[in-house]
Amino acid sequence: MLKGKTALVTGSTSGIGLGIARQLAAQGANIILNGFGDADAPRAEVLQAGSAHGIRVGYHGADMSKPSEIADLFKFADSEYGGVDILVNNAGIQHVANVEDFPVEKWDAIIAINLSSAFHTTRLAVPGMRAKNWGRVINLASAHGLVASAGKSAYVAAKHGLVGLTKSVALETATTGVTCNAICPGWVLTPLVQKQIEARAEKEGISVEQAQKELLGEKQPSLQFVTPEQLGDLAVFLCSPGASNVRGVAWNVDGGWVAQ
Ligand code: NAD
Repeated sequence: MLKGKTALVTGSTSGIGLGIARQLAAQGANIILNGFGDADAPRAEVLQAGSAHGIRVGYHGADMSKPSEIADLFKFADSEYGGVDILVNNAGIQHVANVEDFPVEKWDAIIAINLSSAFHTTRLAVPGMRAKNWGRVINLASAHGLVASAGKSAYVAAKHGLVGLTKSVALETATTGVTCNAICPGWVLTPLVQKQIEARAEKEGISVEQAQKELLGEKQPSLQFVTPEQLGDLAVFLCSPGASNVRGVAWNVDGGWVAQ
């Protein structure tokens, strides 16, 4: 379905971004990976997922908190892939502390990576999408883009902001073949969440398994983690012709979290 398209997935060396990259590759899209750490293993995984289609998989290590590196990433995408057709704004970090104790540099980093990076990538991607009259912007927000939790002021502010950005961009592109939507996952068992489970186990003096059960029990009625594959399936749908008039939604995939 996506043969000949190029998808840039930010923060795709791990977790949800890698899952979405695999699923888009399986539909035939070329993939530009981004993120920190080892890029060889994720690249091999994504190439394998798209092997039936002979896709290309590139990597650019831009730090998404730095607008100049994001600009460089887009120069790479333009010269090597003829631009970005599908933009998945996924890179994100977390820090948990009450607002009065929240380290200022952590606030700045979360806003830069989880929110401002999506502004920079979108402003750079939309002109090319408009020129082709086809494009998909998919923002990985969160259940925390719709409701809050204590201790997560920066993350909740950034994710609510990302949902707002999604709606504005969707309106600006509403008469074109470019759509912009957000995916709002509940708990997904990735390194970002594993850290929170381990911190909870240590703080409460309980096992990691118990902390995991408590985390799900508190917020996610299904008592099951959402998987990167399920989120990848939704991203594939949002890229399909059936979704060409789905605009500005913030679609929760959260085991019932925000239905409560
Ligand atoms: P993860 O920690 O597994 O992956 C994060 C990715 O972002 C990694 O590839 C990392 O290298 C990259 N990254 C971090 N800082 C970066 C930077 N400055 N520049 C470039 N890349 C950077 O996390 P995840 O759980 O897969 O999260 C992915 C997205 O999904 C995030 O935006 C997160 O907020 C969101 N999300 C996650 C959950 C969850 O339960 N895991 C729930 C809702 C939303």
